[in-house]
Amino acid sequence: MKLTVLGNEGPFPSAGGATSGYLLQTKENLICLDMGSGAFSRLRAFIDPLAVSAVILSHLHFDHCSDLGVFNYYLENCARRGIFQGKKPCYLPNVSDKELSALQGHFPYFEFVRVREGEREIFSLPFAFYRMSHPVLTYGLRVKEGDGTFVYTGDTGECENLHALVAGATFVLGDGLFLREQEGENKPHLSAFRLCELAKTYGFTALVSHLSPLTARAAYQREMLGENFLAEPMKTYEF
Ligand SMILES: [Zn+2]
Ligand SMILES: [Zn+2]
Repeated sequence: MKLTVLGNEGPFPSAGGATSGYLLQTKENLICLDMGSGAFSRLRAFIDPLAVSAVILSHLHFDHCSDLGVFNYYLENCARRGIFQGKKPCYLPNVSDKELSALQGHFPYFEFVRVREGEREIFSLPFAFYRMSHPVLTYGLRVKEGDGTFVYTGDTGECENLHALVAGATFVLGDGLFLREQEGENKPHLSAFRLCELAKTYGFTALVSHLSPLTARAAYQREMLGENFLAEPMKTYEF
């Protein structure tokens, strides 16, 4: 599998930057993980968004879904030109019926599919979803293909499910917004340091993302341990 970082920032972008958005490439599919501010523009630098098989949203905070609106306009435009028919699937956590119908109204060129916690096949790939610790309903995901087991934590603080999610992973794209001194119990985000500790415990490679534009890169760099990486926008990682 390959992962391209479209946006590595949160909860808002720096000048010219982009918030959470990633392109996961499997053998047969191109899957967008979140679609934050600026992610759609960067996606277009790599592929025609029509080629995207599906979008998976970890949660509905705007730094993870705001560009779904412009993606929808793109699909609408393509439909008008006769080069797109139907709807793109968009998987998301198990939101209420009311939220679902509001989304379906705002983004008619997507077909929203609610996922529940647990295992589920998407495009014949074995996915697993776990509820994370965050102020709104948020799911982390795990997917296996070949020798690689990929995890995306979405936004989360420390919780039991985080350990269940990353156990057995080979590559983890994780929320490392906080510096070590900012994290603790019942916090909504992890730190780069904590992700690196977990990488050591569970034997995976961590790609630390969701970085604040207000925190110096050097401060994040000081938190890094072992063979782990801070996410670089527009860079592709293979695992
Ligand atoms: Zn976020
Ligand atoms: Zn969030």
